[in-house]
Amino acid sequence: MKKKTKIIATISDRKCDTDFLKSLYKTGMDIVRLNTAHQTPETAIRIIKNVRSFSCNIPFIVDTKGPEVRILNNHDIKVKKDDIVFIDCDCDINDKYNANTFSITYKNYVKDINIGNTILIDDGEIELTVTKKNGNIATCRVENDGIIEQNKSVNTPSVRINLPSLNKKDHSFISFAIENDIDFIAHSFVRNKEDILAIQNILDKHNSKIKIIAKIENQEGVDNIDEILDYAYGIMVARGDLAIEISQNKIPVIQKDIVNKCILRRKPVIVATQMLHTMIKNPRPTRAEVSDIANAIFDGTDAIMLSGETTYGKYPQEAVKVMVDIAKEVENTKHNYNDSAIVLNDDISSFLARSAVVASKELSTKAIIADTASGRTIRNLSAYRGENTIYAMCYEKRIKRELALSYGISAHYIDPVKSSEEFVQKALDKLSDRSILEKCDRVIILAGNFGPAHGASFIEIATVKNLITKN
Ligand code: PEP
Repeated sequence: MKKKTKIIATISDRKCDTDFLKSLYKTGMDIVRLNTAHQTPETAIRIIKNVRSFSCNIPFIVDTKGPEVRILNNHDIKVKKDDIVFIDCDCDINDKYNANTFSITYKNYVKDINIGNTILIDDGEIELTVTKKNGNIATCRVENDGIIEQNKSVNTPSVRINLPSLNKKDHSFISFAIENDIDFIAHSFVRNKEDILAIQNILDKHNSKIKIIAKIENQEGVDNIDEILDYAYGIMVARGDLAIEISQNKIPVIQKDIVNKCILRRKPVIVATQMLHTMIKNPRPTRAEVSDIANAIFDGTDAIMLSGETTYGKYPQEAVKVMVDIAKEVENTKHNYNDSAIVLNDDISSFLARSAVVASKELSTKAIIADTASGRTIRNLSAYRGENTIYAMCYEKRIKRELALSYGISAHYIDPVKSSEEFVQKALDKLSDRSILEKCDRVIILAGNFGPAHGASFIEIATVKNLITKN
């Protein structure tokens, strides 16, 4: 039995040899994420080449950093509670710094913050309080011991950082993604639809079909989720930054709300960060981590993500295996299809999709099979989170890769067909050749009499044998 929840593994150029990548793929990794915070186009290309050396079916997510701020410094600063440190935005990386001074990648940072604000460094490892401002210099009190390291993240909860959506590095990675036929761009700190449109306009200028995933990681993103969903292909609940920008107690409810909204809108959703954090060092997860993954799957997420666990952790294959095992276990107990995913307005595909999933439950079928031009019918089927695997027959390799992100879908490529009869024949041949189906299996076919571009127009339910004979 294959799992239905998809697994994204973040891969670093420091650990990307082909054997390693192959073993993650064999274990259950579905998608590779490249985190551009720690990469250049030159290092990222090595990962892509290594993955493509053994499979062209694995989709890539390029994660651009957006209006994110980081420490800019040429030395680490060891600090103790109640020490005073200075943020000097006039300093540059090559300048001579005082021992207790650092700069920030955003030159107007001190203008945007206020006395009394909390600054969290390195995902909250170190907390500072702003006590004084003088031009481009802020004086801060250190609230706990630690080391302020170069390039670490800087969050200022509840403060709007007035950076543009895209920085220079983002622009170069968007061009990189277009040139290298990447499938998804996951953009950080999306605040509103304009942040998505800034990327979409570039993609449109280049006729690129790359899909945009909005990373929700601050209050503004949460508040504007409905308009963001109008423009983004999918959403990532980026809990790392989100739990710093917003009170962490609120994250489980926000996660549930966002996952639910995405299912209703047929948009793929990813739950990310610290899912197996302790497995960076330990071979086994904690009970709480197991429950966290299980709950994300019960919430209905399409995909779950690994970050440090696969980039620098000691047990990357084990972490993927843990996710696979939890997913299988939980999916096996989710016997009710998601009937909250109502039929979308007057949409025939959506109605037939729901009918197919209901039928699969009541008639104990083995599989749902559908063809698709854009993936729309398939995402409609996926939204009901049924028990049968959905076999998506795609006429474009890019669509096949895109569907690898969605719950419960096994996507396959077939050459274009001239009729629905030919489609049924080709699909059943393919699935039988791969030993996925046997002649006696009862299956549901969702297809269109007017071609896949027009969506589904009928459902047929029969055994493989009868369908082959008829066609
Ligand atoms: C996050 O903050 O949860 C996240 C996924 O972002 P990144 O790993 O890019 O910091």
